[in-house]
Amino acid sequence: MNLNVLLYLEHDGARLQGEMARLVDKGNELARELGGFTVGALVGDIGEQLSGEVRGLKCKEIVAVSDPSLGEYQPELFRSALESILDEAAPHVVLFRHSYVGMELAPALAYRRKAPIISNCLDLAVTDSRIEAVRPYLREVCWGRVSPQGKPPYFFTLQRFPVRAEGPAGNGPPRVTEIRLKSPAVVRIRCRGIAHRVESEDISKAERIVAAGRGIGAQANLKIVQELAEALGATVACSRPIADLGWLPVERQVGISGKTVSPKVYVACGISGESQHVAGMKDSSLIIAINSDPRARIFRVAHYGVVTDLVSFLPVLTNAALQAKRSGQGVDSREA
Ligand SMILES: Cc1cc2nc3c(=O)[nH]c(=O)nc-3n(C[C@H](O)[C@H](O)[C@H](O)COP(=O)(O)OP(=O)(O)OC[C@H]3O[C@@H](n4cnc5c(N)ncnc54)[C@H](O)[C@@H]3O)c2cc1C
Repeated sequence: MNLNVLLYLEHDGARLQGEMARLVDKGNELARELGGFTVGALVGDIGEQLSGEVRGLKCKEIVAVSDPSLGEYQPELFRSALESILDEAAPHVVLFRHSYVGMELAPALAYRRKAPIISNCLDLAVTDSRIEAVRPYLREVCWGRVSPQGKPPYFFTLQRFPVRAEGPAGNGPPRVTEIRLKSPAVVRIRCRGIAHRVESEDISKAERIVAAGRGIGAQANLKIVQELAEALGATVACSRPIADLGWLPVERQVGISGKTVSPKVYVACGISGESQHVAGMKDSSLIIAINSDPRARIFRVAHYGVVTDLVSFLPVLTNAALQAKRSGQGVDSREA
């Protein structure tokens, strides 16, 4: 039986999504335990730069569908291309990142294959030849272990990619098989172009971040967050609700549908610590959380926590930072 793991390789047309190497590592771990190997699924109008990057991945094989009509993400064309890849690779397991694209394509494919799907997984492991997923329930109040039933392929979307054991290293670059796009008879949704974000500042490169969450309560309170950031020489970032409200631009959003950051200092102001946010900032060297709820999940990842009302606390902290600066004892993130 074919026990291979197929990985959907997400990219922006020119470059692979940053987390793809980690998805490949996770796929290799599962493939080793199952007794198969990893196959990357690449769909797009694939140019030199992307092909070069893909050749550096630790997959054994790549199955690619390249066509000029796939230059922008077109859900029905991408789904059709992936169906051809599934026919070619006949995998046991199919992994997607739990991104907007993964959340759209994986269920559509599982439905058409009459195959089981488990979404939003925090981990995957093989136990007694059975795949077990860990996923959150009830807004992450609890976690459950679930296994797909019925015939493979088994589809999963992954929010995190914890790797316990290295998979097979692979001998050299992956073997690439190209197949032609079979356009679906009817295309009902057509993307007419994507407006790309205009980046004012790349938060993923910031050494210090002060992030605002819904707990700031009102747009006017962004001012006290910005003042603290200025006093600390930090960049302002936010959780998703703040970007959704349009209080800060979306390129400031940290998390699975925003940016992944790893600054030396991350100050989370009024952020609850849901896994979609934590996935984007958990690798920060020093995490300080300010939240009025002592049970907030952000305190599970924070090194220091302050249980208080941020509206009255942030100005005090800002003053302290300014005073320290004036007396020559500024916050030195290199010591964090
Ligand atoms: C597919 C998907 C992708 C997602 N991607 C992201 C993502 O990339 N990034 C992201 O951030 N979220 C993302 N989310 C949303 C995520 O699930 C949470 O809803 C979001 O992170 C919550 O943001 P928050 O912590 O700012 O708000 P809330 O969860 O509302 O938390 C507000 C916090 O502020 C505290 N608070 C309230 N008042 C005060 C006060 N006066 N002083 C101090 N503390 C106070 C509260 O105790 C609470 O803990 C995603 C969700 C889905 C389903």
